[in-house]
Amino acid sequence: MRLRRAARVILIGAPGVGKGTQSKRLLTRFPQLSAISSGDLLRHNVKTRTPLGIKVENTMKTGGLVSDDLILRLITNELGRRGWLYGGRPNFMTLSSSSEADTFGSALEADPLAGASLSPQASEDPAASFLLDGFPRTAAQAQRLDDIVPVNWVVSLQTPFDVIMERISSRWVHEPSGRVYNTAFNAPKVPGFDDVTGEPLVQRADDTEEVYRARFQKFQETSQPLLEHYAKKGVLWEVHGMSSDEISPKLYQEFENRFL
Ligand code: AMP
Repeated sequence: MRLRRAARVILIGAPGVGKGTQSKRLLTRFPQLSAISSGDLLRHNVKTRTPLGIKVENTMKTGGLVSDDLILRLITNELGRRGWLYGGRPNFMTLSSSSEADTFGSALEADPLAGASLSPQASEDPAASFLLDGFPRTAAQAQRLDDIVPVNWVVSLQTPFDVIMERISSRWVHEPSGRVYNTAFNAPKVPGFDDVTGEPLVQRADDTEEVYRARFQKFQETSQPLLEHYAKKGVLWEVHGMSSDEISPKLYQEFENRFL
């Protein structure tokens, strides 16, 4: 199915709500969409030892947030690399440059040439359609992204807390292989044992109600300003459902209405 206009999409949802599942399904159904993950881009930079990678390595290891400047630069650079931005200075962000000043100097902010008319702008070509994953994480990041590539659809995935909790607490894993079962809809043939090896299944230490409740609360707090930011822009859309299968058709329909 071909898109009529560029889709610049973000999915927001609590841990365990099925964000990954919905992303995968959207990418399969609409091949013009591609995923851009800030975490993957950062990990790639760490692995290939770019100056940016070296700089963010410790922050990532300790679970902290990388600075907004670096993240913005990373995302803008990636969009530019794909040819999805026009205007701005050529090579406006050289993440792989060996020169510290080149890479980390505020090329966009401080450069007198990087005025408003030279800021990169998003391409409206439907081929420049993407689903952002892991970014923006804060309202401040969203604000800055708006200046470059205004996101035009933000989906808030809503499933009741108890339903997600139920799903998580019925999850069992076979640790050596990573196979995951769910006693509610994907039960092992013999309760408590892996189908392939017959070895015992375990529950993950963080699949407890206490741990999940804390993660859920943290998500509520951090996502609220982000949702409000996009609500004000008029691009927020909420979808409710008890399962991924209930949510997907609604998501497809709305996506088609907006972009096809
Ligand atoms: P993720 O794969 O999305 O969980 O990201 C892995 C790590 O990369 C996070 O723990 C952060 O350290 C960093 N990171 C990813 N996205 C962002 C972002 N939007 N803002 C700040 N740090 C980020």
